Amino acid sequence: MFKPSSFAPAALIAALVAAPGFAQEKQGSQPKAPLRYQDWFKDTALRIELDHIGTRGFEKFALKRLVEEPIWPGARVHLVDPTGYGKYRFQVFDKAGKELIYSRGYCTLFGEWLTTREAASGMVRSMPEPLRMPMPRAPVTLEIAVRDDKTGDFQPIQSLDIDPTAYNVHRHAPAWEVEALHGEGLPVDRTVDIVIVPDGYTRAEEQKMLADARRFAAVLLGHAPFDRHKEEIAVRLVKAFSEESGPDEPRKGLFRDTAVHTTFDTFGSPRYLTTYDMEALRHTSAAAPYDTIIVMVNTNRYGGGGIYNWYSIFPSDSEYDEYVLLHEFGHGFGALGDEYFASATGYDEDAFYVTGVEPWEPNLTIKKTREEIKWGHLIAADTPIPTPDEPEFDDAVGLFEGGGYKAKGIYRPTRDSKMFHKGMLPFGPVNEAAIERVIHYLVGKEVAR
Ligand SMILES: [Zn+2]
Repeated sequence: MFKPSSFAPAALIAALVAAPGFAQEKQGSQPKAPLRYQDWFKDTALRIELDHIGTRGFEKFALKRLVEEPIWPGARVHLVDPTGYGKYRFQVFDKAGKELIYSRGYCTLFGEWLTTREAASGMVRSMPEPLRMPMPRAPVTLEIAVRDDKTGDFQPIQSLDIDPTAYNVHRHAPAWEVEALHGEGLPVDRTVDIVIVPDGYTRAEEQKMLADARRFAAVLLGHAPFDRHKEEIAVRLVKAFSEESGPDEPRKGLFRDTAVHTTFDTFGSPRYLTTYDMEALRHTSAAAPYDTIIVMVNTNRYGGGGIYNWYSIFPSDSEYDEYVLLHEFGHGFGALGDEYFASATGYDEDAFYVTGVEPWEPNLTIKKTREEIKWGHLIAADTPIPTPDEPEFDDAVGLFEGGGYKAKGIYRPTRDSKMFHKGMLPFGPVNEAAIERVIHYLVGKEVAR
């Protein structure tokens, strides 16, 4: 059960706790028989547009509207998310029978903001949080949960009743043209559908937009593990134009009118390139069938951002642009954590990874025995645990101290990787296996532990 902390403004809590449905949280139940997609869902998608509001220790969701998208391109075999990835999770229950019929883990920019010192000061903020699922045939109950700070286990925040048969479910599609870059014609329900959304490209920059998108699609498809799955991946570009060129750069006083409102200087960090406007991003992305969103920002400034099952954002013309694309996609698609620990971030690092709590990311751990380490089965018998930070272990999977912005107490699987240093290093065996779990989940193959 969720408990408001002393950070929460008392009047706000009183108003929201009094709202109907707040106390009606229930435990998740396991389905009795294998779920069949057609029994529960139509071929379209449902976008549930929420606002996420709160501060550290207090979170709440407000329903804005429901939107029907023309096609559900996501998982149809694994309706209940088998990965366990994400800080948040939403579960969907059939309202009549209370059966769990769909779930998905995810992270958000709001969830990251909660780890900043601004949130620790008690400031209350809100950000758009549109969730997506296959269109249910009948009314459902949506239950959103967040990981508990002290245990890492999911705790319910709130339940909302959703009626997909209501007269006011919106059905307006974006008018942007879509350019197929790879894998057009593959069945969308058995394919990882990647949508590239450009930001800060004007109509006069259309040829640059197309050239950039083709270049970066080739980079992604040429890199392990994606190069091994080219027949299961489709890449499409939504030709969304911006009125002005480039993203926002608030510390330079530069604010531009762009398609999905990307910005540098997020949480005070100059290189943190994100968008707060997830509503515009989901709307724009819906021009194409998609499982994961990559935002390509027309800028030569260094920066990026990747949030699991939310978005991966990179700059088109920075010295490290190809590295940033792959690193951020490691976060946004593969649920990987940062393995570095020496650079400053905008976070309160003790809030991001709480001491003594096992990180949920597949490439970070606090465990120190082969049996307990998530990737223990990939560590060779003659590799010492913990593994010394020495060149002789450059190619080994092991247990290397330092990761998740902390030099001590958190461990990473390889001495170096794309999640650690700038440059075109490989992801490494553990990170590639984590990414392949998501690929297998989305295309309906068996998902390894
Ligand atoms: Zn990172």
